[in-house]
Amino acid sequence: TVFEQIEKQDSEVHAYLDTYKEEAYKRAEEVQKGIEDGTYTSPLAGVPIAIKDNICINGKKTTCASKILENFVPQYNAEVIDRLEKAGLVIIGKTNMDEFAMGSTTETSAYGITRNPWNLEHVPGGSSGGSCAAVAAGETYLALGSDTGGSIRQPSSYCGVTGIKPTYGTVSRYGLVAYASSLDQIGPVGKDVSDCAALLEIIAGHDTKDSTSMKREDLQFSKELTGDIKGMKFGVPEEYLAEGLDPEVKASFMGVLDTLKELGAEVEFFSIKTMEYMIPAYYIIASAEASSNLERFDGVKYGFRAAEYEGLHDMYKKTRTAGFGEEVKRRIMLGSFVLSSGYYDAYYLKALRTKALIKKEFDQAFGKYDVLLAPASPFTAPKIGESLKDPLAMYLGDIYTVAVNLCGLPGITVPCGKDSKGLPIGIQMIGDCFMEKKILRAAHAYE
Ligand code: GLN
Repeated sequence: TVFEQIEKQDSEVHAYLDTYKEEAYKRAEEVQKGIEDGTYTSPLAGVPIAIKDNICINGKKTTCASKILENFVPQYNAEVIDRLEKAGLVIIGKTNMDEFAMGSTTETSAYGITRNPWNLEHVPGGSSGGSCAAVAAGETYLALGSDTGGSIRQPSSYCGVTGIKPTYGTVSRYGLVAYASSLDQIGPVGKDVSDCAALLEIIAGHDTKDSTSMKREDLQFSKELTGDIKGMKFGVPEEYLAEGLDPEVKASFMGVLDTLKELGAEVEFFSIKTMEYMIPAYYIIASAEASSNLERFDGVKYGFRAAEYEGLHDMYKKTRTAGFGEEVKRRIMLGSFVLSSGYYDAYYLKALRTKALIKKEFDQAFGKYDVLLAPASPFTAPKIGESLKDPLAMYLGDIYTVAVNLCGLPGITVPCGKDSKGLPIGIQMIGDCFMEKKILRAAHAYE
């Protein structure tokens, strides 16, 4: 069982922050009865699933891997949790992540790092590193992650699993602790495309509790997995293959293009001119929203409060100084700066305009292509300890994933090979808004 794998490996991998063994066994028995009497009809009823620790479960600690939420126990379920329970999935625990989902390695967690199951000296990626490592290690079958700038697609690539970032508004954000509200989406992580498609069917759907939730009627994803992609048009931004891309990742990427052609698809290169603006626009917008969203952690409403202080302002200051980690503080400072009067026009507004230009380029591309192809990351999983030495270099590693969030597009990562160190490489397929069907069909035909 998954709990045997957890007991065997998780002292090393550390994918989980919390597990619910007894409850899960009890629930599994209940669900089994429910399957027999027809209460549960989902093909995923009874399947174990792990939840990233920024998604609220009623009565369970939800820490976002931050000290400031060390004892926070929400009194309600996220919408996705209600949907999983209704479908009969068995929730087995909470997974590790970068603090408040800010990071690319799962090393900014206040509760220790997660290791890559393929090679314990390497990171699993991030910020949903715990969810992806858990699937890769056989410590769960399915997991939920969240993706603000690549946090599902990049760790899926590093861990050799499959992960989807849905179109913005497809999965309710109710009960997801907000990082950058205009970019955040919850999505599935699993061992292959059909598992992820089945899970996405369960969690997707309109929710009145999330004002950005969309009413969609095209959510039957599993029936799209026909294997037929004859005549499908794939576009590859040629700038994505320029300098900075690891040669082994590039070789593996080119191999995918050949396979797609063999399957009867058309593959064409085109040019994206806004590439150099993607990272700056993303980090300005994401940090601005984060600085505003994280205002609520003030020592009054949630878990942690500094032990000693003099007066209210000193309490805020000491609580936030001790409660937040370095990376989170960096984002709050950057975000507050770009939103402050005098700099707002120069940075934040300019970033919003840049985002509109990036969106325009992607819109044009989808006038010509069904699916765009990109690496998930310029390199395979870095060694533990390397990335945090240079945060700016770490941000640049998000070059292939952030535009998808800025434009609200759906993206999927599927494994496409290994490098010479045996570390997994993933390919990313990007669709136009609401075109999950196309990327799922393509990814399934390829895998
Ligand atoms: N690495 C990116 C960041 O730190 C993306 C994180 C995410 O998608 N949550 O902002």
